Formats: sequence, C-alpha cells, structure tokens
Amino acid sequence: ALGDAYEAQARSAPERLDAFWMPFTANRQFKQHSRLLASARDMHYTTVDGRQVLDGVAGLWCCNAGHGRTRIIEAVSRQIATLDFAPTFQMGHPLPFVLAERLAAIAPDPLKHVFFTNSGSESVDTALKIALAYHRARGEGQRTRLIGREKGYHGVGFGGMSVGGMVNNRKFFGPMLPGVDHLRHTLDISRNAFSRGLPKHGAELADDLERLVQLHDASTIAAVIVEPVSGSAGVVLPPEGYLKRLREICDKHGILLIFDEVITGYGRVGNAFAAQRFGVTPDMITTAKGLTNGSVPMGAVFVSNAIHDAFMQGPEGVIDLFHGYTYSGHPLACAAALATLDTYAEEKLFDKALDIGAFWEESIHALRDLPHVIDIRNFGLIGAIELAPREGKPGSRAFDVFTKCFHDKDLLIRTTGDVVALSPPLILDKSHIGQIFGRLAEAIRETA
Ligand code: PLP
Repeated sequence: ALGDAYEAQARSAPERLDAFWMPFTANRQFKQHSRLLASARDMHYTTVDGRQVLDGVAGLWCCNAGHGRTRIIEAVSRQIATLDFAPTFQMGHPLPFVLAERLAAIAPDPLKHVFFTNSGSESVDTALKIALAYHRARGEGQRTRLIGREKGYHGVGFGGMSVGGMVNNRKFFGPMLPGVDHLRHTLDISRNAFSRGLPKHGAELADDLERLVQLHDASTIAAVIVEPVSGSAGVVLPPEGYLKRLREICDKHGILLIFDEVITGYGRVGNAFAAQRFGVTPDMITTAKGLTNGSVPMGAVFVSNAIHDAFMQGPEGVIDLFHGYTYSGHPLACAAALATLDTYAEEKLFDKALDIGAFWEESIHALRDLPHVIDIRNFGLIGAIELAPREGKPGSRAFDVFTKCFHDKDLLIRTTGDVVALSPPLILDKSHIGQIFGRLAEAIRETA
C-alpha cells in the first residue's frame, strides 16, 4: 500500500515540476518540455509516457553494467534491512574494510589504500586535501599550489572548481582557491581532427608543466590533477605519450600526480582504470560513478602506500587525517559497490572496451561525412562528435540533436557545447552500437 502511494505521487510528477531546482539545467525550458524517466532495465530506460529509450551514456557515465541489475538490487535491499547506517569516525562496520581491500586488488600498484566519499566532487576535494597535508607531514608545507588544466572538470566543490578549467563552471563564483594554476588543454582539432583513438600530435603539451615550474618554482607546487580522458568538456583525449611525459616531469620535481578517473574508472576505457590502460601510474586516483554502477552515491580515492604511510608516523592515539564525511563507507553504498564489482568480474566488463572498441571506433567514424560534423573522437567505450556551432548560438545545434534523439529517436545522448558525447553501458553488443549510431546519424541529418 505504501508502494502504491509513492507510485501515485510519481505519476503526478509531470504536473509538479516547480519546487525542484534542477542541477546543470535550463530549468524554465525543461519545465515547459520535460523529459522524465520512470524505470530502467539493462540497456534501456522507460519514460513516464511508456517509451523505451536506448541509453547511450550509461545514465551520466555511471551505470557501466547497465540498469536494474539483480545482484545489486538484492545486495542493497538486504543491507538496508540489516544495518542502515553505522558511523565510521572512530567506529566501524565490516563492509568498507572488505570493499577497500577488494578495490585495492584491482587498483594499480602501489595505490593500495582507499578513502571513501559520496561523489566525484568529494573525491577530488579529498585528494587535493590529502596532497596538501602529505607535503606538510613530510616537512614541505610550502608546497600549497595546485595545478589543474584548461577544459578540466573535477566536480563542483571549491577545490574541484578551482582546479577545473571550464569557464561557465568558474566565472560566477568569485576568486576561488588561491594559488591555483592551469596547464594548457590538449584539444587540437587543426592537427588531430578525426584521429582514431589517441591523437598523434601534442605530447609536448605536457611540457607546459615545466613552464609553470619555471614560473612558480617546484617547491611551491603540491600536485597536478588531470583527467586521463576528459569527458565533461566534450571528450578531450591525451595525445600519445602525453601522460607518460607528465608523470616524468612530476617525478623530476617531487610533484604529486592525481588522475581524476570519475568517468574513466571501472572499465570505461578497458582495464579497471585508465592508469592501467595507459601504463602510467599516478599517486592518487579519484573515482565515483561506476563504483556502485550509479545505484547509490559513493566515491573512492585511491592513495599510494607512500602517501598513506606518511600520515602514519605521528602518535598512534592522534587522528591522522582530519577529514571525512558522515557517509564515508555508508553500508548501502558499500553493499552496492561489492555487488557491482562482482557483476563487473563475472561478466568481464573491464575487457569489454578492449573487445568491442574497434567496432565502436569503426561505427562512430562512419558518421564523419554528415552535415556540420567537424571532428570525431573515440577511445575505449567513449565517443564524441563535434558539430560546427551555429552563428551566435553556441551549443544550440548539439542541444537540438539531443532533444531530437530523445523525443523522436528513443536514444539518450549527452551534449556539452556543440559536442555530442557517448559512453554506453559496457554490457552493450554490436546491435546496440548499430542502433546508437544509426539513430544519431538520422538526428544529425535532420538537424539544420
Ligand atoms: N570528476 C570528473 C572527471 C567528472 O567527470 C565528474 C562528473 O561528471 C566529477 C569529477 C564530479 O562528480 P560528481 O558529479 O559525482 O560530484
């Protein structure tokens, strides 16, 4: 009866849109033409009016094993009936310990310690704070400068926003963190348009870190944070050799390297993490999204043994890191994550982007001759199609493609600016890839 009451309320939602101030949304426009999803299973959403929509973006880059997975549903249901909440400040419960060990086992050496958060934004702010406190613990407390990159997206906390490099996410919010600087971004359509996989040109852009070292001195720099592949700014790929060079420059100057793998983690580009796919090991990895298959909010920061151990040198009775969230290691999130890892392992989903990546690449590049297409980028199970902006109305062409896909083609995609981004659930097969690009091609063709 309780379930029925909530269902009745959900049915009335289309007439009750006013109070919810939606995130990253043109609220007034949305509330005139809403797009509401009611349920989901495997590769599809069902809308409130009963249409089946193919999910081309794994929700929001997070449902890597697809939707409605039985094992996760059962694990979370069992957990909430057993232990709904337990504190993890000077207390504990079994699951986060077990989960951290399971995560450490799939992480690259030597990133064998895990700090839990509730989101990508919190993971980023956590990693930045650990970097600062790490240097201080080692007697290098003057290393306070944080380096991000243009076009970077690291969530919306003050730390992540400050190291981020997307102008609309920054310009409204004042001066932000002091002492932050940015590397140049690596998008270079003039040299790399229609590259298949990693672009050939641009490894030398990593030398931009040397420029910042010359400007600020390495002794003031705590850490560099980059997305191995950036998603939010419209899928920007690392040129061949770029990440390796960045690692070398960080090592030379004692600067920590943080990979923000909130979208690339948990199989998106093949292997568990992009760090493994690229063969470059950072000092910390920030994750969220795919950790629980998007089912319960959770993030995890992977920390190297050396960083972790630097915090364990003080008196044993003193708290080693004055940081944490009420919900760090929340029982429901841990249960969801454990079931998610089992699902990934059982279905070998970390291999999927490697197995089907060539077909994905062929299929997306078949769209290159469509009207307005100025670049196509792909890596792992990520794809981007960049459209020429309309005169004076940047972003509107891609947004029209997005709404046409959703309303007329039963396909969910995502756009930022004039880039169409794709990141499907890793459970897809070749027929889904055919449907995604077939429907998207129609939508692009039909959009002026
Ligand atoms: N970092 C990266 C690379 C992301 O792509 C995102 C979200 O898209 C975040 C951080 C922020 O994650 P959240 O929205 O869970 O705070």
